[in-house]
Amino acid sequence: MAHPTDDIIRAMQSPTAKDTEIIRDAYDFAEKAHGEEKRKSGEPYIIHPRAIALTLAKLGMDRDTITAGILHDTIEDTPVKLEEIEKRYGANVASMVEGVTKLSKLKYRGVERHVESMRRLLVATANDVRVIIIKLADRLHNMETLQYVSEEKRARIALETREVYVPIAERLGMGLIKAQLEDLAFKNLEPEKYKETAAFLEKEAERAKGALEETVKDLRKALAEAGIKNFRTESRIKNAHSFAAKLERKDNDIDKIYDIFAVRIIVPSSDDCYKTLGVVHSLWRPIPGRV
Ligand code: MN
Repeated sequence: MAHPTDDIIRAMQSPTAKDTEIIRDAYDFAEKAHGEEKRKSGEPYIIHPRAIALTLAKLGMDRDTITAGILHDTIEDTPVKLEEIEKRYGANVASMVEGVTKLSKLKYRGVERHVESMRRLLVATANDVRVIIIKLADRLHNMETLQYVSEEKRARIALETREVYVPIAERLGMGLIKAQLEDLAFKNLEPEKYKETAAFLEKEAERAKGALEETVKDLRKALAEAGIKNFRTESRIKNAHSFAAKLERKDNDIDKIYDIFAVRIIVPSSDDCYKTLGVVHSLWRPIPGRV
């Protein structure tokens, strides 16, 4: 039977029958607890914890973290008590839900010299790094649905995202979440500049697509020929905010930016890594135009 958590389970690395059972149960429990509560968009509240659980599953987080993500707003917004969560889902899940609830009480007031202490406070309050990861997934969905809140609140949340959450995501090495949060803050804080930058990058991506695919293909072939096994490649386009910031640093000279596109090669050992570097150097040729 289909269930609203099916795509969450599918996104997990190797879900067990127990994972499916507990995640479904937590979803039904949270949906019932949030009851008639609505998001600012008018949608049922449950779409928010659902989005967070999906992000967490895609990040490769474990069942307890995903369960805590589904339940993360129940203590604050519904009559559910922490003891009940502990009894149903265990102490691990309960302590994460408690951690996220505590974090939501911290508010950033937009004072520059408080930024660093806010970051430290956040990290100290969450003694479990998984709590911060849930909080980042929470912030991502709130940023994705920011158009529904008042203009004043929008600016405050976007600024807090840029000043506090983006650096935390970066320090945790969560590149994709960092880039998404950064661009959503950019979009809300500097809409005109964002639009212009995003349109430019989209055009660039379209133009270089073929060359980039060709490069990755050649690279994979050369690596296989060099005897490197079990490698994986990822390619990315620079996110809008980091591109705009770099352009400014380079006196608005686009020809001085060499990393609009990048390919990452992940290999199993450092020996393979040295070998890979050699292969890359022997192969290197720029994509016509840029990079
Ligand atoms: Mn939330």
